[in-house]
Amino acid sequence: MNKTAVRTLQQYLSDQDAYHGSIDGIHGPRTLAAVNAALQGHTGQLPDGADGWSDRRRAVACLQIACRQQQIEAGPIDGLWGPQTEHAVDVLHTLQATGSKPAPWRDQPPMDTNPNGWHRESELESVLGSPTRRPPLTVVSCPWTLALAWDPSTHPSGIGCHERVADSLARILERVHDHYGPQRLKELGLHRYGGCYNKRRKRGGTRWSTHAWGLAIDWDPSHNKLKWGRDRARLARPAYDTWWRLWEEEGWVSLGRTRNFDWMHVQAVKP
Ligand SMILES: [Zn+2]
Repeated sequence: MNKTAVRTLQQYLSDQDAYHGSIDGIHGPRTLAAVNAALQGHTGQLPDGADGWSDRRRAVACLQIACRQQQIEAGPIDGLWGPQTEHAVDVLHTLQATGSKPAPWRDQPPMDTNPNGWHRESELESVLGSPTRRPPLTVVSCPWTLALAWDPSTHPSGIGCHERVADSLARILERVHDHYGPQRLKELGLHRYGGCYNKRRKRGGTRWSTHAWGLAIDWDPSHNKLKWGRDRARLARPAYDTWWRLWEEEGWVSLGRTRNFDWMHVQAVKP
């Protein structure tokens, strides 16, 4: 159970009028007392022996009941923190934060919008010029603290991207920050910044990478390796549905979402 889960629990208990402390993600005595009070009202849903469960297990059971009340499938009320419970609590958290549940991945194909008129990859060199000359770059500041993926003690002040995409990038970062908050962004690994402008060719190819114009950004590369598919890449998980929606609304393209490789990579270029 992570800090967001404890905050989700505290929010639920507070909504039930069982908890009057702060929503701070700390599983302290007041939260514990509220869990026990809330479980009193649901003893019929708890299996035999639940009286002897640890405090942590009772807290997880309370979250499972909270999910069930919102028709979120959390599996049996067993107090165990498995992948199904973790996903259900993610959904409950989004429901609390936004008032609606995130759409499941399979119901949410990549959006094909282009409100900013991003170019196709084949046009880049004729429209923006050859990347042998450095493109006009603008540093967009990031509302949460970034850490270089390969050197976490270095905190870049912002993302240096092509000036054409800077306003769009700033809007996306602002919306992402509003939706997840700094704590959750860190838990999701979205502080691990893998770079933007980089004058280089595509890996294993001769054509210029979209990074060579500052039109692409990599996120959390060590958990989203180039050749990994949906089954391994962290950014393919349902917790990132809103993340991707916010990029796609601005016309950015995730190679993971559209082609199921290089999940770290998002670009303001149409394939
Ligand atoms: Zn990339």
